[in-house]
Amino acid sequence: MGEPTRVLILGGGFAGLATARHLERQLRSDHQVAVTLISRDNFLLFTPMLAEVAIGAVAPSHVTVPLRSLLRRVQVWQAEVSAIDLGARVVTVRHAASGHEHRLPYDQLVLALGAVSSYHGVSGAAEYTLGFKTLADAAQARARVVDCFEQAAIETDPAIRRALLTFVVAGGGYTGVELAAALADFLRELRRYYPALARERLHLVLAHHGPRLLEELPEQAAAYTLRLLQREGIAVRLRTAVSRVAADCVELSPGGVLPTHTVFWAAGVAPNPLVETLPLPKSPHGAVVVDAHLAVPGHSGLWALGDCAAVPNPKGGTYGPTAQNAEREGVLVAHNLLATLRGAPLRAFDYQPMGMLASLGQHRAVGQVFGWQFAGLSAWLLWRTVYLAKLPTADRRLRVGLDWLADSLLPPNIINTAAPQVALRSGVGPAAGLAARQDRGHPREVPEGLHAPPPQG
Ligand SMILES: Cc1cc2nc3c(=O)[nH]c(=O)nc-3n(C[C@H](O)[C@H](O)[C@H](O)COP(=O)(O)OP(=O)(O)OC[C@H]3O[C@@H](n4cnc5c(N)ncnc54)[C@H](O)[C@@H]3O)c2cc1C
Repeated sequence: MGEPTRVLILGGGFAGLATARHLERQLRSDHQVAVTLISRDNFLLFTPMLAEVAIGAVAPSHVTVPLRSLLRRVQVWQAEVSAIDLGARVVTVRHAASGHEHRLPYDQLVLALGAVSSYHGVSGAAEYTLGFKTLADAAQARARVVDCFEQAAIETDPAIRRALLTFVVAGGGYTGVELAAALADFLRELRRYYPALARERLHLVLAHHGPRLLEELPEQAAAYTLRLLQREGIAVRLRTAVSRVAADCVELSPGGVLPTHTVFWAAGVAPNPLVETLPLPKSPHGAVVVDAHLAVPGHSGLWALGDCAAVPNPKGGTYGPTAQNAEREGVLVAHNLLATLRGAPLRAFDYQPMGMLASLGQHRAVGQVFGWQFAGLSAWLLWRTVYLAKLPTADRRLRVGLDWLADSLLPPNIINTAAPQVALRSGVGPAAGLAARQDRGHPREVPEGLHAPPPQG
């Protein structure tokens, strides 16, 4: 018996975990292959429920599943991948706390490092917007909103108060729409606890560069979504780009400057920066180009999948960056990797996604599953059923189910545990610049209110 083949999987998200789980199932008692999964987090984050975490409907830990509880035979390393040397076939990893480094040689390498926010060169976006991809992002989103309410409740300047109570979401894809809808629900709930703000308008703006929301869904579903969000009081701005962001305002094109301290960025993703460093063919979006077998052409033993890969769709174009696709790709990479080692034929990736559902708040959702369109309460019930079932363990399904029950019966949790996030009247930096431009007569954006103020008296 020779040395076992060393397989390294980089990334413990949907793609990496699916690869590892499928390898584990296929390998059973075969010890000629040693599989190690390296991930910055020692858990899988179930992103479809991130908006629910942000508004406190579901506890953060309940949308995460420890990798070690799902993998028995695969070794899990919680570490940061800091370098990949394709020539020497070595990956360097670092433990975040100690900084201790390891160099791991491999025979087969699976790139499943996911994506990061892409700011498309928008000035100030990286510095001043809040991302919405990680658990920390969800916690920060919630803390920011509550902090804005706390500050607005004691602010005497009406202009600053209005800016504090204006929230902007950039991007009208799934993430942006679900976040905006969840925020609308949360703002409505929060308002009840701030009598000082009873007569204030809350502004929630959803800016999307395209002509319609949820471009992945049919026109009808997008139109339904638009109507519903507008009915909730969300100011939806189509064909509108966020062209600049500062600490105290955002510039919309067209639209002008809108004073706000809170801009959420859901306007696009780019592959993990580590992928950028690799001398591999990339798509225009920077993803690693793979063939139909999910192998990187010209590099034996190298595979890429999920959000960091451009996977060709036999029907044209490439597969979208979704968890659903990433999981299916993981199963295929595991199969093809073992087939390569065993000299068996490889399979091509040809998957018809089941569909998509987007939660729109207020017990409403929209989507398409197996070609059937759903909207309203039935879609929302389907959303909850499908995503609850998709949580990888019974333990998490039970916990999320109980969270939903508690959320429907109990008042929201409005504690503010984070340090104050919004610094007002700094008078320095780009914020001051944009605010000053506005004072000099730059067009000012005043959206409709999320809620009309209650009647006087
Ligand atoms: C808010 C939100 C909602 C979404 N909703 C849906 C939905 O409803 N349905 C759907 O199908 N898709 C949804 N998606 C998209 C889905 O989450 C992604 O397509 C999916 O996560 C991609 O899987 P992945 O494994 O490629 O990347 P990820 O799941 O992002 O995993 C990447 C992994 O790499 C690790 N990693 C990254 N860099 C390093 C490093 N340097 N060192 C070590 N480890 C590293 C990370 O820790 C992580 O484990 C949503 C995404 C978001 C943000």
